Amino acid sequence: MSIYLDNAATTCVCPEAAEAAVNAMRTVYGNPSSGHAAGREAKHLLDASRETVTAALGCTAREVYFTSCGTESDNWALVRGAEKASHVGRHIISSAAEHEAVLKPLEYLAAHGFEVTLLKPRADGAIAPEDVAAALRADTCLVSLMMVNNETGAVTDIAAVAAALKAVGSKALLHTDAVQGFLHVPFAAAKLGADLISVSGHKIHAPKGVGALYIRQGVRLNPYLMGGGQESGLRSGTEAMPQIAAFAAAVKAAQGSAEADRGRVARLRQAAAERLCAENPDIVIIGGGAPHILCFSLPGYRSEVIMNVLESKGIFVSKGSACKKGRRSHVLEAMGLPARVIDGAVRVSLSRFTTESEMDALCSAVSEARRTVRAALR
Ligand code: PLP
Repeated sequence: MSIYLDNAATTCVCPEAAEAAVNAMRTVYGNPSSGHAAGREAKHLLDASRETVTAALGCTAREVYFTSCGTESDNWALVRGAEKASHVGRHIISSAAEHEAVLKPLEYLAAHGFEVTLLKPRADGAIAPEDVAAALRADTCLVSLMMVNNETGAVTDIAAVAAALKAVGSKALLHTDAVQGFLHVPFAAAKLGADLISVSGHKIHAPKGVGALYIRQGVRLNPYLMGGGQESGLRSGTEAMPQIAAFAAAVKAAQGSAEADRGRVARLRQAAAERLCAENPDIVIIGGGAPHILCFSLPGYRSEVIMNVLESKGIFVSKGSACKKGRRSHVLEAMGLPARVIDGAVRVSLSRFTTESEMDALCSAVSEARRTVRAALR
């Protein structure tokens, strides 16, 4: 039996989501735009799914648009957000610790006449709201900062960033990539103060290939995909009903016990961090804040070596971000960590299905891996 501790990369599809996907493929398979009963049934499922995701996001149904993934949500928010707010100016603030799904659109925008300021994370891996305030200019049209960093679990206080923007009367749109935050750290879109929020299904036990973008009512983004006018004309393309229904089912399944699960996962993470520190005096814990991500480094022991030893015991973890294989982590570099620490970084990410015995097995395996590698190096 393997122990899967790479839930920030992706999660297993929960039974409720799998069942909902099968139902939307085999039974309620009409096109929500069709005028007949099968279409109406699919439209009903679409509306119900949106209501569920809306309730979890804490906003109104008219503010939630289904997309194909977190990357699409980020691309849409960045490119169309900057375009929309360009009457304010052409300055964008983001951070050097963002996911590529934000960094690449920023590169695109920079190549198209926008000026991008990338803030550096503080020692804890988060972006300080004061640093955002200091970088704000009259011509800042967009601020995009992730809620939870996918490599370190560092949590940026988006509500405080929104307050900092408001305090100086900034007209900039505020976007947050909440792909790792949704259901892991509590927030309500209506109170957060962000104009745009990206989320993704496969990080919360829905299948891959579905996400959503929250667009605050009153913000009129142009569509990113143009065509048949689905999603109120803002995101064309026949709705991916199996994924959407599964996304909603995964949200519903998580929601009942979300608070208790967050607490339990946070305690498992904390206990593992404490045990790893006790057994490995040279260990460095990196970032932290989100309950489900534990990033640590054994300086001098390359992360791929530790990963391989863990894999030989059936334990799956990750080295930095799963999205950029073979390169030194830009997130850990932006935090100013020494190369030895970066090269030894390992990310363990939990889900609500992670058990205490799995975390115990991880800790034993890490300590053993360190002893084995040290002996081999002598
Ligand atoms: N943003 C963050 C913080 C992520 O961790 C990821 C995926 O790892 C994405 C965006 C992209 O999401 P998706 O895989 O749904 O495109």
